[in-house]
Amino acid sequence: VNFSSLGLTETILRALRTKGYSAPTIIQQQAIPPLLAGEDVLGIAQTGTGKTAAFALPILQQLAAARERSKPNTPRALVLAPTRELAVQIHDDFRDYGAGLGLRQTVILGGVSQRPQVAALARRTDIVVATPGRLLDLFEQGYIRLDRIAFFVLDEADRMLDMGFIHDVRKIIRELPRQRRSMLFSATMPPDVARLAQEILHRPKRVEV
Ligand code: AMP
Repeated sequence: VNFSSLGLTETILRALRTKGYSAPTIIQQQAIPPLLAGEDVLGIAQTGTGKTAAFALPILQQLAAARERSKPNTPRALVLAPTRELAVQIHDDFRDYGAGLGLRQTVILGGVSQRPQVAALARRTDIVVATPGRLLDLFEQGYIRLDRIAFFVLDEADRMLDMGFIHDVRKIIRELPRQRRSMLFSATMPPDVARLAQEILHRPKRVEV
């Protein structure tokens, strides 16, 4: 199996060659085709399996193909991650994989000044990668709109719940349009994560590695 047989376009294939990836990982083989076909995905996978590219590549490809361009403070894709380190990693991956697509992205984290984040959002943004607390904070201050999100990812959902972010996550989800694609990734699937998955996802394809 190679990346082009999964339905990825040449610009993305070129970015993957630049990264030195020769073949998709198992989770990428399983998740990319349904995501490109517009399905929701429930991914049971740990970090290290290549799960970030599994959701980032289909999001990038579909956003690049969309006619609608980004507007200030109005992202089209939102990825929630439980820690700052993970959010930065995902943001960097989106930047690398999306090189040449002309999409704009912002990372939103707590513990640092909100000023550059507010400025970046105002300059237009397609993709926001965020930790839940700061995202909610900026939303409540009116610096970000969530009503145009077409792609939503909840990454490391089990850690998200362990760290006590469930209320913030639920508040954020309530602001998203019902018409959207959603993905939930988790290393484990305890009952509270399964319940959250049921609330967020619509007839998901379940992929497990
Ligand atoms: P992740 O599980 O998303 O944290 O990815 C784990 C590591 O695998 C990261 O350093 C990625 O850059 C790398 N990676 C992801 N997909 C591939 C691939 N298809 N081939 C080689 N390395 C990959």
